[in-house]
Amino acid sequence: MPDKRYVFVTGGVCSSLGKGIVASSIGALLESCGYRISLTKIDPYLNIDAGTMSPIEHGEVYVTEDGAETDLDLGNYSRFTTFTPHAKHSITTGQIYRSIIERERRGDYLGKCVQMIPHVTEEIKTRIQSTLEPDTDVAIIEVGGTVGDIESTIFLEGIRQLLNFTPKNTIALVHVTLIPRLPGNKELKTKPTQHSVQKFKEIIGKHPDILLCRLQEDMTLELKKKLSLFTYIPQEAIIPAKNFEKSLYELPITYDQAGLSKAVLTKLSLTPKRKDTTQWARLFNTIYSAKKQTNIGLVGKYLSVESAYTSIYQALYHASFQHNTKVNIHLIDSEHLNNSQIHTLDGILVPGGFGQRGTPGKIKATQYARENNIPFLGICLGLQMLVIEYARNVLSLQQANSTEFEPHTPHPVIDLLASQAAIQKKGGTMRLGTYTSQIVPQTLLHKIYDQATFLHERHRHRYEVNNVYLEKLVKNGLIISSITPQNGEELVEAVEWGNHPFGIAVQFHPEFKSTPFKPHPLFSAFVEASTNKK
Ligand code: GLN
Repeated sequence: MPDKRYVFVTGGVCSSLGKGIVASSIGALLESCGYRISLTKIDPYLNIDAGTMSPIEHGEVYVTEDGAETDLDLGNYSRFTTFTPHAKHSITTGQIYRSIIERERRGDYLGKCVQMIPHVTEEIKTRIQSTLEPDTDVAIIEVGGTVGDIESTIFLEGIRQLLNFTPKNTIALVHVTLIPRLPGNKELKTKPTQHSVQKFKEIIGKHPDILLCRLQEDMTLELKKKLSLFTYIPQEAIIPAKNFEKSLYELPITYDQAGLSKAVLTKLSLTPKRKDTTQWARLFNTIYSAKKQTNIGLVGKYLSVESAYTSIYQALYHASFQHNTKVNIHLIDSEHLNNSQIHTLDGILVPGGFGQRGTPGKIKATQYARENNIPFLGICLGLQMLVIEYARNVLSLQQANSTEFEPHTPHPVIDLLASQAAIQKKGGTMRLGTYTSQIVPQTLLHKIYDQATFLHERHRHRYEVNNVYLEKLVKNGLIISSITPQNGEELVEAVEWGNHPFGIAVQFHPEFKSTPFKPHPLFSAFVEASTNKK
């Protein structure tokens, strides 16, 4: 594959530098130059995937179409570019070790001693190469963690080997670092970056090709010269990366103006087939010209990590761009909810979640939205909260609950999916990935999906509406607006309040499919209803 290219994005100095956004922006800029890209995340942890990790620890779990539970950066890739990531675009140490150990147990190594080099590095290279489809021009690979970590070093060794056997102009190494300013000190400090580049060279055997420096202010020419002198990276390949002002989506243009696409294309000996960043420029103007404000309450329990609800935040922002409003998202702690926090809201969103903690608050917020005509969107657990609230307060089944929270509830209106009954193992065993569901005509959902017959959305759950209660719910005014026939059963995928301006909840996760250029219709309709409520 002589004309295939790779861009590797690594990080130095500290974690959380936004490497995922850098990788996504490189993808967006290469696409704007007419190249087809893929984006992959390497996570050097021992988990097979992110599915068993708490959102408080690791942020949101992003679900791919083919049902992989991955790092949230895959969501950024899909929002910034036209690329749709799949399971193979999330590589972890756990996956690598598992396949090697399974092979060893089968006897595939024919008596050999199985070692980090060459066996682990070969597996790493094979997986990296498999991210290139026949029509991919450039595979962008983000290496999680920080250069120098014990965990990520074996991946960097794999990249070093790849460099040795690939023509020089087919790989660009982009290293992201931080230039801090100490409190009370006038000078920006380049030493951590110098050391990080040295560490990079020690492991990879060469300097990075491009250095992207996160800093709070403009980079002076003097600073650039100094960095160039100490890192052996040409000045034109040192890219200052200031923080964005209003939105993440400013960054592709900001990085482009700072010289990132030029530096990447030059290193890869590519010339732009075209150059069209107008959609990004238009988005930039939209973000800065919002005329209205809309206050949305997100009633959740994963509060300590901002990224626990990333895709929902982004989907709300995408809808806000479309409706020329600024969405203010109020993250409301469902464990300590009181009416004073929600009575000023224009819309209430109850997102997905697991376990009983915080559910009374979510049910209370749902009831408030229903009784006070507040636009409401429930997602996954949010649908289950809506059904429990309806059963308790409209059907007068006071003890209605989900068997997830109360296994012996007398009214299990939400119950384990039949397909889950025999499952013991936790990792990768939920109902995952894209399913096709029927849309019931003449419903709000039908209108939102532009009168479509089917919808194709991603799932991640074990529990479902219990069909035993369906007739009673419907008789009492609940509208079922989408179902999936599955193994002789009909799974409820969406419900609506009949007598309400905008009350809808879905068992799937629409947030994973929203992009700034194509907001998801459910979020769009919800933000529109909330904005108009004012
Ligand atoms: N805990 C619920 C279930 O497993 C909801 C899951 C979710 O919100 N993703 O069905």
